[in-house]
Order: sequence, then structure tokens, then C-alpha cells
Amino acid sequence: MLVVEDDGPIADAVLYCLRRDGMRAEVAPSLADARRACLETHEIKAWDVVILDLGLPDGSGFSLLPELRRLERGPRILVLTSRDEDVECVAALEAGADDFVTKPFSPRALSARVRAIARRGERHESRAPHMSAIADEAARGLRVDRERRQATYEGVELALTKTEFDLLAVLAEAPGRVRTREQLVARVWGETFALAERTVDSHFKALRRKLEAARAPATLIETVRGVGFTLREHA
Ligand code: CA
Repeated sequence: MLVVEDDGPIADAVLYCLRRDGMRAEVAPSLADARRACLETHEIKAWDVVILDLGLPDGSGFSLLPELRRLERGPRILVLTSRDEDVECVAALEAGADDFVTKPFSPRALSARVRAIARRGERHESRAPHMSAIADEAARGLRVDRERRQATYEGVELALTKTEFDLLAVLAEAPGRVRTREQLVARVWGETFALAERTVDSHFKALRRKLEAARAPATLIETVRGVGFTLREHA
């Protein structure tokens, strides 16, 4: 893990809780250090997860997002944002972040988020499998078979509409990764489609009812307030 954070006490707290949980972590206190650690090292030192603060002394962490996304086997990215900055969260997710944690955060919450995105292993998007078998605890029973367009929970087939299936398939590509409504609309309906947020929400409402009828936990699909949706291990 690489922790890109200029605030010493915060960086120390993050390091402490990651290391306590058995994760290897280093700190980069500036954008320049982060770039060096991620992009300019020729030794094999690929970071699984980069925890990225956006307010850095030599620029915004935002500028690093597209650079990391262009890497062949780039890291998963957890952004640290200020509380109640929905606009910032949405922008970070759309620039390629996987998830975000708002400051101030509890070390335990941060550690859980890091573990959730680290566990995903290699990015599903790059391998484009037609089948997602989800390893996350609560989502474990969920299987999404894109080729046959079939979704099951604990072996029970879910009778989904085309839209419900497509929405679930996008979330299932990367459990723990938060997708904004705009990203979901672009993937499911198409880039130029203008769709009311409420329409997306009502499809999710129907999808949740079907998952719950199949005895999936109610928290399987989490609504991230003001931002979007994710398949989450814990609510
Ligand atoms: Ca900062």
C-alpha cells in the first residue's frame, strides 16, 4: 500500500492501522513523491492499493488519478476527502478512484475499506471475464454470468429485467468499487443518455427487492448517499 498524505499525524495513524492488520505500507508526503513511487520506479514494485489524499502541498491528488489509471496493472485507489464534499467524491470516482473515505475517519473503517478493495485481486475490467464469482463475504453467494445473462444468489436464479441485470453486472465487476449514477447510466444506457437520478434509483429498488426475495442481505447493494452505488461487504 502507498499512503499519499502530507499530514504527518494522519499518515502515521493510517500506517499504524494498516501495519497492525498485517499490510505493508509506505508514505509519500507529496505529489512528486507519489509520482516517483508509482510511475518512475523501474524495479518491480507495483502497489496493490494507493490511499490518496487530494490536498497535497505541490498540487491536487486529482492529477494523479488519470496517470495511475493509465498503468497496465495499476493500483486500486482509495481517495481521502473532506466530509460532506459529495461533488469532490463524485469527481474522484469519475476520474478513476475505486472508493473514498471522508475525513475524519476511524482507522477501523479505513482498514476495512482497504481490505475490501485489496481483496478484489486483479482488476476485473482488464480481464473482462464473462463470469463474476464474488469473493466478498456478504456478496459471496452472488454469481453473475454475463454470457448467459443469468444472475443467481446461493444458487437461486434472480428473475431480473435487462436493466436490472446490467446494473448488477457493472457493480459485480468490482465489489467495493463505488459507481456514480452517471457512470452507471453511461455503461447501461449509453454515454449520451440523459436519465433522471430517480429512474436509476427505482431500478435499484426493484433489483434489491428481488435480491432480498432470494435471501441476499439487505446491505448487499449499498447506496452511497449523494454519490452512487456499490456492492459492499458491510453496510
Ligand atoms: Ca492534505
